[in-house]
Amino acid sequence: MRVGGMNAFSRRGACPALSAPMQTGDGLLVRLNPVAGGLAPKSLIGLCESALRHGNGIMEVTARGSLQIRGLSPDRAGLLAAEVDALGIAVRTGVPVETGPLAGIDPQEIADPRPLAEQAGAAIEDAGLTARLGPKVSVVVDGGGQLTMDAVSADVRLKAVRAEGEVLWRVSVAGDAFSATLLETVDADAARDIAVAALRMVAEKGRAAHTRDLSERQLASLAGWHCFAPPSVLPDISPTRGEIEHFSPLSPIAKVEPTTKVAGGAPSAELPISPLVGEMSGRTEGGAVERPRSPIGLFNLGAGHALGIGLPFGSMAAQPLLELAGQALQLGSTEIRLAPGRALLFLGLTESASASLQASASALGFVTSPVDPRTRIAACPGTPACASGRIATRAIAETIASESADLFDASLTLHISGCAKGCAHPGQAALTIVGDENGAGLVVDGTAKALPAGYRPGYDAARGVAGIAAAIRNARHPGETAAACLTRLGATEIAELYRRN
Ligand code: SF4
Repeated sequence: MRVGGMNAFSRRGACPALSAPMQTGDGLLVRLNPVAGGLAPKSLIGLCESALRHGNGIMEVTARGSLQIRGLSPDRAGLLAAEVDALGIAVRTGVPVETGPLAGIDPQEIADPRPLAEQAGAAIEDAGLTARLGPKVSVVVDGGGQLTMDAVSADVRLKAVRAEGEVLWRVSVAGDAFSATLLETVDADAARDIAVAALRMVAEKGRAAHTRDLSERQLASLAGWHCFAPPSVLPDISPTRGEIEHFSPLSPIAKVEPTTKVAGGAPSAELPISPLVGEMSGRTEGGAVERPRSPIGLFNLGAGHALGIGLPFGSMAAQPLLELAGQALQLGSTEIRLAPGRALLFLGLTESASASLQASASALGFVTSPVDPRTRIAACPGTPACASGRIATRAIAETIASESADLFDASLTLHISGCAKGCAHPGQAALTIVGDENGAGLVVDGTAKALPAGYRPGYDAARGVAGIAAAIRNARHPGETAAACLTRLGATEIAELYRRN
């Protein structure tokens, strides 16, 4: 397999499937998701060897659970692709339809999500939507259980729920489990059809569109869809027609504001409530969602165990990863799954073999505890891996994690960004350290794009954070979280602590 020329690679912001690597600060990056959900240990060993041969030897597992290999040249990316083929690893193509990392093997899951995921993927393909949707459009099919997909954002989410002894699927759009808009709770066929209908509407809006761009009226029509459109006729209905004809004030689900206008300016019928409520508004389940469980640790699968091991800040050199996969193979692991939350799940191990692998992983520098402070820090590759980087993000992060570990209770997020682009954490963080021409800037309660309140030399940023940690240690009231204490100290004081320590 040969990949295309340099220009074909350079589309920033695109998801780099294996055949379309992305240009980054440290050469090309390829991202791959095995179709089968997991990799044989021997395949992961082979991938690590390829990464060492052709890339800069840095491998990553992303927050969404994709594997990335960095630092490739165009020729080398082609060779890598050929080797992935030779290893027999079939990689996912088309619109990503993602299931949880324990899909189909977790006795606690409500339903195996894989059949519905397969059907939804095939229906999206059959509807000709793959080429019409942008590369970041995705669908999540979540069967529930010990490791949910709650923290993973998607355009369409299908989540298994139990209702009066039956399994139904809660359909929501645009966000993670906390922020998505709930449309409807229906059976598997209807869930698949609503997913396809929603993606048709997105495709109509162009390749930059997502379900978050759909209008309230479109959402209302999707929510009432199954009442008016038998699944068998769905593929024949254009999104525009469907949008108009299936909207009905009589829908038990679709609700819009009384003043909302429908297309063409006519006022809609009087309906009481906006549909723009979170998936977790509790309409079907009546409960709030707990914080998703970390994939790091031991999971009982009834017939066996899964051991979750994290990559510090989502990345690891290929050599220690290769060693870990080799040991897993020796200990009897049959499959290694990629898990959202920057982790690998090792299947097929006994409890004692899991303990051995965990000890080796820890010695090799992997994350083996869900409360490891490194899981609370977002850090991009920075220098030297990324040409845009101004500070050595990972080295700073390692120092802070080991020297200021007590700063990191569950309330606090620290983001260390090589430049203002903020690749590792686009949102706000309690503390952000960002590299620019003045050194390592500190942003309090903002993003990497904000103007820093204070600076230190890049090599010395960790000491500034140690100063903040020491102040929190002294000032904290009993029971007060680190984040609450930071708020009480105030941004000016925090910036001063960072600067002068
Ligand atoms: S944020 Fe980090 S990874 Fe992204 S461009 Fe800047 S230095 Fe590179």
